[in-house]
Amino acid sequence: MAMADNSLPTSTDNTTPLLSGWGSVAVHSGHRKDPNYAHQVPIYASSTYVFDTAEQGMRRFDGKEEGYIYSRWGNPTMTEAEEKIAALETFGLNMPVKGILHASGMAAISTLMLATLKPGDKILTHFSLYGGTNELVTKILPAFHIEARIADLRDLSLAEEELKADPSIRMVYLETPANPTIQCVDIEALTQLAKQYNCIVACDNTFATPYLQQPFQYGVDFVIHSTTKFLNGHGTAIGGILLGRDVEFMRTHCTKTHRLLGGNSNPFDAFLLIQGMKTLELRMERHCHNAMEVAGFLEQHPAVARVNYTGLASHPNHFIAMKQMRHPGPMLSFELKGGLQAGIDFMNRLNMCVRTVSLGTCDTLLSHPASMTHYSVPKEEKEKYGITDGLIRMNVGIENIQDIIADLNQAASL
Ligand SMILES: *Cc1c(COP(=O)(O)O)cnc(C)c1O
Repeated sequence: MAMADNSLPTSTDNTTPLLSGWGSVAVHSGHRKDPNYAHQVPIYASSTYVFDTAEQGMRRFDGKEEGYIYSRWGNPTMTEAEEKIAALETFGLNMPVKGILHASGMAAISTLMLATLKPGDKILTHFSLYGGTNELVTKILPAFHIEARIADLRDLSLAEEELKADPSIRMVYLETPANPTIQCVDIEALTQLAKQYNCIVACDNTFATPYLQQPFQYGVDFVIHSTTKFLNGHGTAIGGILLGRDVEFMRTHCTKTHRLLGGNSNPFDAFLLIQGMKTLELRMERHCHNAMEVAGFLEQHPAVARVNYTGLASHPNHFIAMKQMRHPGPMLSFELKGGLQAGIDFMNRLNMCVRTVSLGTCDTLLSHPASMTHYSVPKEEKEKYGITDGLIRMNVGIENIQDIIADLNQAASL
């Protein structure tokens, strides 16, 4: 089958009227009038689309006529989700970007890497990264002769040394705030630096969401999300998106790569994502407000040795976070004085708050890396990332603050 590269509408074709409020855009953008007058976008559970005539089929395959052909290549429910996220990532920026919805955040990152890099190219990235991304760049891409340089990108002079020393660095890959350490890097400064060395810049914006931070504003080329987290917001679907500001590249080579790798989303998960994103502003406001309250409570709790929250002046990246984010975010971590056993006991005593590893849901989630995600990681390795035995990671939910604090308080007190 031939490839029709231009058969899908882009965010620039959006029919949404110009709205001035972020929340209004979150509710309305991306929506198209339904031919059957359905109020909500239908779940287009159809793998293929029909042609009125053979000539129409020809025009669609040729890219001369807009229209859907096959759902791995695009689907109306998925398009609505893509256009909504594109509108939110560019809110107030007056620039077109195109988003491609994927089966997962990892699928979006894989398309990004394989569409933009070739053998011999290198990626410069920060040492604190989502575990899956770290493994992709250190264990899978080297087989394609794409290597990673991993440095502490909070240090700009170190970043410049790396770029100067190795002209084969083609991409600077950022994730800020980073999973799971909540470290932040300076998007604006690193993008300016990367551009001096002709690198493309990609930024994983999963932890911040476009409500808190808009990397495109600083000249970043690609933004990635695991939509599984705050964008969906309810823990009901896995998904990802890759957005790019070179719309032509996104429509051609990037679309082709995405379609051939087959990491497409599906209409059911896209539907859930669309519903979730309508309340993103409300949820993020509440998540962040609660996180600040929880950080303040934990800071003065006798069982707590240390609180890592970008909203506290004590956090080493506080100023960078406040420079590029609307609020310090919904994620924090804290260190219990009693080490491993204190961490296990604390987790076991939680009543309302949930013991799990993900993030981005309405309920408060806590995980204990030393006994869960990082149980098998050697101690020196863990310490490098600041993961100590008593460390608890927390996704502060949108419940009423007094209930969150009461649960934490009873769990932390013997
Ligand atoms: C979860 C996550 C990913 C991976 O997304 P999946 O949807 O699980 O594939 C990537 N980056 C960050 C920051 C994440 O939190």
